[in-house]
This record gives sequence, structure tokens and C-alpha cells, in this order.
Amino acid sequence: MRALSAAELLDVWEAGRDQAPVGRALALLAAACPETPPDRLAALSIGRRDAQLMTLRAWTFGSAVAGVASCPACGDRLDFGFDLEEIRVEAPSATEPIVVQAAGWEVRCRLPSSADLLAVAALPRDGDMLALAGPSRRQRLLERCIVAAELDGESRPTGDLPPELLADVVRALGEADAQADVELALTCPGCDHGWSAAFEVASFFWSELGTWAARTLREVHALAMAYGWPESEILALSPRRRQAYLELIEG
Ligand SMILES: [Zn+2]
Repeated sequence: MRALSAAELLDVWEAGRDQAPVGRALALLAAACPETPPDRLAALSIGRRDAQLMTLRAWTFGSAVAGVASCPACGDRLDFGFDLEEIRVEAPSATEPIVVQAAGWEVRCRLPSSADLLAVAALPRDGDMLALAGPSRRQRLLERCIVAAELDGESRPTGDLPPELLADVVRALGEADAQADVELALTCPGCDHGWSAAFEVASFFWSELGTWAARTLREVHALAMAYGWPESEILALSPRRRQAYLELIEG
């Protein structure tokens, strides 16, 4: 993996605007890992994918993260910040397949990947009215990730698994790929209420990229208007030098 230039970042942003979040995450990685076939990137577990996205984000915008949340108890605004290294999970604790055993059952499963999420993206979420008519996203995702299920040594279809065992499987998958499920502990300075909020590096990075792209295009516009330079040459300037020219224009 390598860092992306300003021109490459704009290309990814432009192509990804029409894509769903999973596609955007993969587009970022594919641009930074041209040596890796796209289907191999799509087969990474979500945690491993997110670990790579964290590295790419650190190379692009630095490792410091600043965000804003609103307190669920009093509605106050809370600014929070952390370093990506603080939420980095070391090497995955489990090797695949992940085996879950309970009450005579033995279930072998693998970690969900971006390809799995893409495959179930069109299905209704749990709780949607449509879910009553057919399998939900969560159900189909579990079916994809369960490689084999046996009761007392005999192979059984995934649909036979009792709900408690499915809950164990979901828990085991979450523990084995902790990087995919980052929770931030937040405390409201106004009312002292504590809660946890999910941090998804893929969507966070993508929204930052949108803000950066809008600003960069404005800078290109201003410099092209003033000097007549082509977009490629303006983007090849370092941010500092671009800023220096912009200040001269505004002078
Ligand atoms: Zn509060």
C-alpha cells in the first residue's frame, strides 16, 4: 500500500460518489494498493480492511481524529478527539475458521468481508417490514459466513441452528475481528452522562475526503482563474505552496 496523491484522491472521490459505502471503502484501498487484485481486497475481513483504511487515512490527513457528538441525555454538543493508534487492535486474536461449540453443536465460520456485505446489501435490514417476507441482511450474512454446522457429529443446514447458538456465533465473529467494531467511550461535560458511540473509519474517512475535495477544487478554481495553470499542475503543487499562491491572489 502507498499514499495517494491529490490527483488520485480526487479521482477516487469522483468515482466513489455514486457508490454505496462498502464500494467507497474498497475504492480507496484499490487506489492505494494497485498491486493487489480487487477481489483480494474485497475478501479481507472488515477489521483487516479497516486497519488498512486507518493507515491510509493517517498518511492522507494525519492520525489525529476530531469529531463532534451530541449528548443523548441533554443534547449538548461534545467535541472529542483521539489518535487512530489508540483504537488500533493488534493482530487478530483468532485464526479462521472460527469454531463455536455449544450443546452438542459445532459451528465453523469465517469472518465477514466487504464482498459479503456487498452480496447482502440489497436485502432488507432486520426489523424492516420487508424482512418478514424473506431472509434479512443479518440472516443471509450469517449463512454466508457459516462454513459448516454439525449436531452430534452430523451435518445440519444453517437454518436448523437455534437462536442462542446464532447469538454465540455473532459474538465469536465480533471478538475475532475486534477492529471492525470500534466503540468510543464518551462523557458529556455538561451533564456527566456516559455513552458509547461506534466509530467507522471508512465512513469517517469518506466524509473527510468530501470536505477536502470541495476545498481543493475551490483552490484549483482560484489558481486556474488567476494564473491559467492546468488542473494537473495545480494539484501537483504541495498544499503549502498552493496556499502561498492563494494568499498572493487575495493579497
Ligand atoms: Zn449531557
